[in-house]
Amino acid sequence: MATLASNKKESVPLEQQQIKATPVNDVLLTTYPEDSSPIPMNWGATDYQERGPIVPSKSKNGISKHNCIGAHAGSYCIYQALAIASNQLKRDHVADYTNAQPAFTVPEQPEWFNKHDIVSMDAFGHLTQYLFDDVSKSENVDIKPTIAITKANMQLLELKEAVEKGELKIDGDIITNANGDLKVSKVAVEPVWYLPGVAERFGITEETLRKCLFEDTNGMYPELITRPDIKTFMPPIGGLTVYIFGDPQNIANPEKRIALRVHDECNGSDVFGSDICTCRPYLMFGIIEAVKEAQNGGTGVVVYFRKEGRALGEVTKYLVYNARKRGGDTADEYFHRTECIAGVRDMRFQQLMPDVLKWLGIRKIDRMLSMSNMKYDAIVDAGIEIIERIPIPDEMIPPDSRVEIDAKINSGYFSTEKAPTNDELKSVHGRSWEGI
Ligand SMILES: [Zn+2]
Repeated sequence: MATLASNKKESVPLEQQQIKATPVNDVLLTTYPEDSSPIPMNWGATDYQERGPIVPSKSKNGISKHNCIGAHAGSYCIYQALAIASNQLKRDHVADYTNAQPAFTVPEQPEWFNKHDIVSMDAFGHLTQYLFDDVSKSENVDIKPTIAITKANMQLLELKEAVEKGELKIDGDIITNANGDLKVSKVAVEPVWYLPGVAERFGITEETLRKCLFEDTNGMYPELITRPDIKTFMPPIGGLTVYIFGDPQNIANPEKRIALRVHDECNGSDVFGSDICTCRPYLMFGIIEAVKEAQNGGTGVVVYFRKEGRALGEVTKYLVYNARKRGGDTADEYFHRTECIAGVRDMRFQQLMPDVLKWLGIRKIDRMLSMSNMKYDAIVDAGIEIIERIPIPDEMIPPDSRVEIDAKINSGYFSTEKAPTNDELKSVHGRSWEGI
């Protein structure tokens, strides 16, 4: 079944042994179709049982029966490996899901059964342990959820201020007190990619996608090459969280209004208040406007994607900050500085983003709390109507973030103001490092 690398240490010259002396006996490098009998999985099938579960786990009979490449938990799969390596987690631990079931029902949508509409998450990821418990037992494989649904209470300074200013009212149901405590329904989603569908979104072949995912992660997932029969992949990337204000059952009701913000993570601003960008102010504005929509009888939705620094990561982001600040930090150079370091201005690729909106049953958005043309285009291309676009109010833009917001508006971001010209961008300066 497996290709076992042999440990021929005795034939390796001494100098090489010193570089690499780790025995690799009994390590399974990859699997091949002829030695496997994966659990049947038909993405986009018209009923649950025909679709089947997504099984990446190699535990129990999973080595021959898994039907997904990769591992559960997104980027956290590495911590799981570390926990096993350090004997803190048993490799054969069986989860007990008593009382872990969803805190509310997300109404089933036709999109859950269509292989083109949803390609980057398992539409049944919150129900796996219930729908496929019999498969798990009869096939002796480990089946885990990739979606979890809960309820919570939020406390944010901006919500308290909004209540104090009379911007948000205390209704006892959504905003519960003068502190601005906010009731929220939440959905956490781990990525599950249907590789033919992801390739289709990017207009490339599945073969090209598999080859680049294999080669450009330095060979992390050999099954991308050796298992063309396996069509799903759990990538080691961040997932997303859906924050729902108001009754979640209203989301898929076309009679009800929806205010929506799709937000990509910016830890420095979102959590730590960095004023170089508009992320936290726009996020807070988005939450407050979403709550207002819920209080008016509709629903507010904020989707938070773990795509730090335009999916370039914080290290690249800070390198760009340095290059900007040492280069005079003008708006006309804003995107250029990112391109110099990262090779692209943005790596978020919004093509997969609308999947979660389709999963929720959103077919129109009354108030889109985003200025991004990339997000707008992706949502509209997915067949979801956007009725009104709401930019961040001018007074919420920190002075040092004018460089970013003006460069973005010049490049096509939505604004109710006239877009600055290329010449005007030259005179938009950020704070110099002397001011920090
Ligand atoms: Zn930011």
